[in-house]
Amino acid sequence: MSGSYNICLDVGGTKVLGAIFNEKKEIIHRLKKRSSEKGSSSESVEKVIIEVVDEMVKESGIQMSEVHAIASCAPGIIDQSSGVVIFTPNLPWRNYDIKSAMEDRFGVPFFIGNDVNLGVLGEYKYGAARGYRNIVGFFVGTGMGGGLILNGDLYTGHQFKGAEFGHMILDPEGPLCNCGQRGCLEAFSSKQGMSAYIRQQAARGRETRMAEAVSEGVFRSKKLKKALAAHDAVAMEAVDRACHYLAVATGNMINTFSPDLVLYGGGVIEAVGETFLKKILAEVDRYCLPQIRSTVDIKIASLGDDSILYGDLALIEGI
Ligand SMILES: [Zn+2]
Repeated sequence: MSGSYNICLDVGGTKVLGAIFNEKKEIIHRLKKRSSEKGSSSESVEKVIIEVVDEMVKESGIQMSEVHAIASCAPGIIDQSSGVVIFTPNLPWRNYDIKSAMEDRFGVPFFIGNDVNLGVLGEYKYGAARGYRNIVGFFVGTGMGGGLILNGDLYTGHQFKGAEFGHMILDPEGPLCNCGQRGCLEAFSSKQGMSAYIRQQAARGRETRMAEAVSEGVFRSKKLKKALAAHDAVAMEAVDRACHYLAVATGNMINTFSPDLVLYGGGVIEAVGETFLKKILAEVDRYCLPQIRSTVDIKIASLGDDSILYGDLALIEGI
């Protein structure tokens, strides 16, 4: 007999977030754990996932026999049909059959998909994108992810490699991106891109309350929110620049797909989404055809950090 609870996981480069959903699709229990240190093995990330599932089941007082299925996301290229993680930039998995490993361990069906694809899917099924049929999603976090719903279906491209909007090149002479290219959307508009800009300005001797937050990596979204509230000039420039390139990218996508919705989600949007939305809306009309723009809604995600967890649930339910 299949159980009535579903376990959904959000596996990132630094953390594993877990949630148990009941039959009414309500989250009844949550857990967060650090996922991995740099250089860790596939098995050690898997170990953290197993710990998160085991601990949640124990803490919530349900039995494993009451669990219907488990689903997870990961960043990178994931064969959603076979459950094989082909490549993840921030985790040690390469052509790794996580589905078989998890099904052997837990004895229930296991599903996995790309994190941002599932984030957009979650918003489509349960959040701000409900009722739309053609959705372009940008998720602004440490990197910049993309997700695409076409004619009501998640579009993952050939061999699940599609919708990498973060690597659309907006200036071939622009700043270096993690992918090795220059001037990708991610290099301007993600936390990494904004952090690089802030570091550059701090190195020039400019005052900014973000200096410490970016000294060794990317800032936390809450820090950016505080700096914007304090009218920190460098932080505001970083955001203006991020939103300018997001507006250009959005215009390109509007012309390409004529979606009925463009949706922004992810950690940065969760923290300062209203600011981003206002700035993008002020510019986007310049970068797309008015006839197409006139039939597009532009919104921010409504499920916040839970978008991906709800996307997992949609994956279990068969999309
Ligand atoms: Zn790139």
